[in-house]
Order: sequence, then structure tokens, then C-alpha cells
Amino acid sequence: PAKPIYAGQLPAGLQTISNIIAVSSCKGGVGKSTVAVNLAYTLADMGARVGIFDADVYGPSLPTMVSPENRILEMNAEKRTIIPTEYMGVKLVSFGFAGQGRAIMRGPMVSGVINQLLTTTEWGELDYLVIDMPPGTGDIQLTLCQVVPLTAAVIVTTPQKLAFIDVAKGVRMFSKLKVPCVAVVENMCHFDADGKRYYPFGRGSGSQVVQQFGIPHLFDLPIKPALSASGDSGVPEVVADPEGEVSRTFQELGVCV
Ligand code: ADP
Repeated sequence: PAKPIYAGQLPAGLQTISNIIAVSSCKGGVGKSTVAVNLAYTLADMGARVGIFDADVYGPSLPTMVSPENRILEMNAEKRTIIPTEYMGVKLVSFGFAGQGRAIMRGPMVSGVINQLLTTTEWGELDYLVIDMPPGTGDIQLTLCQVVPLTAAVIVTTPQKLAFIDVAKGVRMFSKLKVPCVAVVENMCHFDADGKRYYPFGRGSGSQVVQQFGIPHLFDLPIKPALSASGDSGVPEVVADPEGEVSRTFQELGVCV
């Protein structure tokens, strides 16, 4: 495994951050970015100083899910640092705000770009930095976890049996790196229609994960058209509907990170 670039000494840009939370999934499209963004805005609503780092270089979602006025990251040319953009008090950095030039990169290059974006940003004093991890448990993820001293990880998955195997991989990666997995979010677990509750992907995988790996918390997120719509609109669901069912779930998650 690669050596941490900070080799005992934290990169300057990260020294003023109290907690770094990784939101991770083993597959794309399970709702990882949705959870990362809504968790971050919930923590901000609870009074914390929060930043979001979108580390998904191949498919950055942050520019779609959150709509800051300034959509291009500014540089401090003298200090050679990056100034995060901001929406409703939360600091945002994403490759999607870096202007032109994304796409065709090999793994090591991606790791380099991610590390540079993350460690040369002037985050300032933050209580929480939420990292929207690239999906999977490959080299890019491993390098990122070694560069950054993570406080905790939240794993996002869907209820299928197959997803269980992926979650196990994620938990193993974090436990090797001695990062505690504090919660699993089982997304798209049910929907309500005609007064009935439906479980389109089956039930039980989440509780199996929690029991088998001793993860302290499991959260269910239902399939909700509003969650998808708010993801596309640039206003996170917990901001759009702070009293709703989804917001309550994120408040519980916020307390346990
Ligand atoms: P990932 O980061 O894992 O690739 P996203 O968070 O980008 O996944 O979610 C993929 C798509 O599914 C997005 O359009 C998002 O709005 C939608 N989505 C995620 N979770 C839900 C949900 N519980 N109900 C409805 N739509 C959802």
C-alpha cells in the first residue's frame, strides 16, 4: 500500500478540520451522493461548520445536487491554493467546479488530482468535512483513505442480497485502515402506495450487515420522488423540506457521526 503523503504530518489544508467523514458505496447509483449532500446540510443545520468534498472525479454529482452562485473554484495564485465555492454556508469542492478538462485519466492521475484538490483547498475552520467517495474499493479509494485521516465512514447500499457482498468489502477496507464504520444507510428500501408499504428489493440484508460486522447504526431511506427531484434541482431535500421524513432520518444519522 502507498504511504500516506502526510507521513505523520497533516497537509496544511486539512489541519483546521475536526472530523472527516467518508460516505462510501461499492457501486454507483445507490444514492451515495444523495446521502453525502443531505448529511452535510443536516450537520450544518445543527450548527456545525461543514464542507463537502466530491471525490468522484469520473461522475461528479455535487454541481447538480447543489447550486452555488459561483460555479467555478477560484485560485489564490500567490499561495497556490483553491478557494471553495459555497452554498447556504456549506463549503463545496468538486472536480465538476474545476472548469473544463475532466474525463480521460488513468487511476494514478485521478488519485493525484483528488489529493491535490483536497489538500490544497483553503477549507478554513470546519467541524465536519464530508467526503463523497468515488464508488468502489479500488486503488483510488485506498489512496484517498491513506492520505486523509478519516474520523468515520458511512456506507450506502441498496437492500439486495448482492449488495451485501459489496458492503462487506467496504467494511473490510475501512477496518483495515482502522476507520470506524458508524452507520449503514440502506437506500431505496421501500415505497408507500395505496396505503401499503412495498419492498421491491427484498428485506433483511441491512440487518444482516449490522449484526455480522457490529456496525452500530442502520438507517432506511425510502424511494421518494421528492429525493430524486431535489437532487436534480440543486436544493438538497433536507433544505427543501426540513420537517419531512427524510430530514428526520438524516438528523438521526447526523447525531451518530
Ligand atoms: P451515487 O452517488 O451512488 O451514484 P446518487 O446519489 O447520485 O447515487 O443517486 C442516483 C440517482 O438516484 C439520483 O438521481 C438521485 O436523485 C436518485 N435517488 C437516490 N436515492 C433516492 C431515493 N431514495 N429515492 C428517489 N431517488 C433517489
